[in-house]
Amino acid sequence: MQFKAFESGIEVNAPTVSAIVQGLGCFTNISRRYLNQVGIGTVVNKKLILDMDAWYSQEAWLEAFENIARQIGDRVLFNIGMSIPSSARFPSRMKDIHDGIRSIDVAYHLNHRKNGKSMFDTRTNTMIEGIGHYGYEPVEGENEIVCVCNNPYPCAFDKGIITAMTQRFKPEAYVIHDDSQECRKNGFDSCTYRVLW
Ligand SMILES: [Zn+2]
Repeated sequence: MQFKAFESGIEVNAPTVSAIVQGLGCFTNISRRYLNQVGIGTVVNKKLILDMDAWYSQEAWLEAFENIARQIGDRVLFNIGMSIPSSARFPSRMKDIHDGIRSIDVAYHLNHRKNGKSMFDTRTNTMIEGIGHYGYEPVEGENEIVCVCNNPYPCAFDKGIITAMTQRFKPEAYVIHDDSQECRKNGFDSCTYRVLW
């Protein structure tokens, strides 16, 4: 189910949250309103100030998404997702589309923390569970990667993240939402996307 955190107490870092500001582009008053009404950032002289070293409640961030979805729609959620690879922390070494798509789950855990600890440990390459995953499954013999996303983020947002990563490494590739599988918009736990080229 999109917008509902798997566990309470999870936090997300400011660079990730700032994707909302980038995703809304010139509509800074709108991003300010959506973040401020859930207690993210402070407004000074009508500008939203995010402390880039701060961590914010994942539940609040999801609430902002839910409000945006209800009042503006999926197109903006997609744009916010498209901004994630340039806003959030990602592994520095990615050489092709396979690295790019696989890295989304690493980055996802790197940019969230639980009990004050980053959910991806870069020294041991291990993850702490609690926020779900972004899948990476290459299809043997085909130019195709299947991504099953079981996490609390919205369907259109995840399509945006996968699309941005796909375009970075393979501009001719495209991403489809597999409508024959479950979708979080219908209350299920996951969505399936296919990257094809
Ligand atoms: Zn979906």
